Amino acid sequence: MKIGIPRALLYYRYDLMWQVFFEELGAEVVISPPTTPAMLAEGSSRVVADTCLPTKVFLGHVLSLVGKCDYIFIPAIRSVTKDGYNCSKFLGLPDMTQAVIPESPPVLEIDIDVTRGQRQFYQAIYQLGKHFTWDPLRIRRASLLAWQAYQRYRELMSEQKLTLPRVIQRRGEVEGAVCWPVAAPVRATIALIGHPYLLYDEYVNHRLIYRLEQASNRVVTPEMLTMEELELAATRLVGKAYWAYEEEIVGAGGHYLQNGADGVIGVMSFGCGPDSLMMDVIQRQAARLKSIPFMSLTLEEHTAEAGIVTRLEAFTDMIHRRKKER
Ligand code: SF4
Repeated sequence: MKIGIPRALLYYRYDLMWQVFFEELGAEVVISPPTTPAMLAEGSSRVVADTCLPTKVFLGHVLSLVGKCDYIFIPAIRSVTKDGYNCSKFLGLPDMTQAVIPESPPVLEIDIDVTRGQRQFYQAIYQLGKHFTWDPLRIRRASLLAWQAYQRYRELMSEQKLTLPRVIQRRGEVEGAVCWPVAAPVRATIALIGHPYLLYDEYVNHRLIYRLEQASNRVVTPEMLTMEELELAATRLVGKAYWAYEEEIVGAGGHYLQNGADGVIGVMSFGCGPDSLMMDVIQRQAARLKSIPFMSLTLEEHTAEAGIVTRLEAFTDMIHRRKKER
């Protein structure tokens, strides 16, 4: 059975975990190619203009998998922590996709909502695994291996301070691993804060990491921090996190504003409710601390590359000058 996984949204967080799970159950995984302008245009044509950019990109990836797989995997992830809720787009992703892309291959979905308790969570995994085998022990083994693979990958990023493209490169995958050496000497450390699907989709962000690294900057991201560091910083800023992944965004922003970075760039999507609230918290904290510069970049489908380049150059030049003066 060929399972298609769109290279968008939570793929940038859970790709390895999903891949290991399906392969352990004997399926072949087909991942859509990196985002192209045509994919974005096709995805955008299926939804209203106000839909956020990452969702349009996701739909473009689904369209690129039509005819290439037997099923397409689209999880509905409601919550991954006890009291943190995900953005509504993730909740309705399987239904929305089927409604706007009727030609999509049959959708293989799983409803993840940890607030409903462990029993429901395991049942959801079992229901998904049942498409491949009736053996509950085999499903259990596949899910454990998938979870271990995910943990190892997160540890690798936080212990060795690696960005996602470098982790992918270490895994030996060629496609999607666009890596380059950081131009020496390193003049500043820039923290990029945002959802992984904004930070790591090179087409969507106009090669943000590449541009920063080529300008002699080391890039640090939320994944390079431990859960404890993220939780501590997020609690200091907002107390109890409301949104899923809020600890990673607000926590990382709060942490890097005080430790380990010379400047922070918050990357968000136009029309995103959760991002506008979370970035506002970081922006206010930056204004309060006045320790290091903060810049926010809002991405949408009409964002011009030249605009991004100009802002990046101005921001990094200012940081380099500031460091030199000190
Ligand atoms: S969190 Fe924001 S950018 Fe992400 S899917 Fe939801 S609305 Fe879109």
